[in-house]
Amino acid sequence: MNKVVKIIVIFLVAICMSAIMQTKSNAADIEISKTKKTLYVGAEFNLKITGTNKKITWTSSNKKVATVSSKGRVKAKKKGTTEITAKVGKQKLKCSIKVKNLPGESKKTKGVIYLTFDDGPSANITPKVLDILKKEKVKATFFVLNYSKSNEKLIKRIVKEGHTIGVHGYSHEYSKIYKSKKAFLNNVYSLQEKIEKLTGVKTKYMRFPGGSSNTVSRHYSKGIMSKLVGEMLGRGFRYYDWNVSSGDAGGAKTSNDVYRNVTRNLSKNRGNMVLCHDFAGNTKTLNALTKIIKYAKKNGYKFKAIDEDTPLYKHPVNN
Ligand SMILES: [Zn+2]
Repeated sequence: MNKVVKIIVIFLVAICMSAIMQTKSNAADIEISKTKKTLYVGAEFNLKITGTNKKITWTSSNKKVATVSSKGRVKAKKKGTTEITAKVGKQKLKCSIKVKNLPGESKKTKGVIYLTFDDGPSANITPKVLDILKKEKVKATFFVLNYSKSNEKLIKRIVKEGHTIGVHGYSHEYSKIYKSKKAFLNNVYSLQEKIEKLTGVKTKYMRFPGGSSNTVSRHYSKGIMSKLVGEMLGRGFRYYDWNVSSGDAGGAKTSNDVYRNVTRNLSKNRGNMVLCHDFAGNTKTLNALTKIIKYAKKNGYKFKAIDEDTPLYKHPVNN
């Protein structure tokens, strides 16, 4: 008899324990993907709830700082803090959001020139650009494309000589990279990883092919640029457009044109983000570079590579 009672008691205890554990694990299974996040103004990201099929109601305690959509997409609006709440039945899950301003113009950026070279590296132009920069003791930024084995040394040299390396994209082919968000992200991350493996630098700096204001992407995906600018900021990337264009990929016919396009548009009252290219065969900028640097130095400008404090010089989005 005693033995039977014992077995029954053990059995009941086991049932109770399993019931308790089940409720506990059910409660613990509902999770929010992030409980804390710092974002820059303009950044967007998705909050996700896992472990439930129930309806989720999203709210932001300060919609001026950040809003949240019915699907959990958070958009950072202005500097401050807010709490995003997801209500699932009686349960509430929270994520604290801190919104910061992106670096803006300041005393530090006045009269600074940020030379940027896109679409490289190329075996015949990039080494010569690097030679000039070295000779003139100027630091610049290179937004590169995918590179061959033989051009790996140029990527290494860019980093070794103190320039900033950024992602332009594995490919520059608009029809491929702007057909979807997924395609675009893959185009950025695949190159970012490749550069990191080669140099140890995990760059967060990028420039959209065609700039963030490009209209060409309309042909492949309507509204994609509006999505991507917030998406990339939300993922911790900084994208840089420009406010001075050398015209070396279009309008400028000679290196004199490049020289004029750059020097005429420089200003001492702001930072100057100068768009140039070091793709194969582009001798226009190469042949104007020393003259541009000498002009700028003579007129009191300073050169810097893009860093943490560099303003974005964002273009308005057109798609
Ligand atoms: Zn480009």
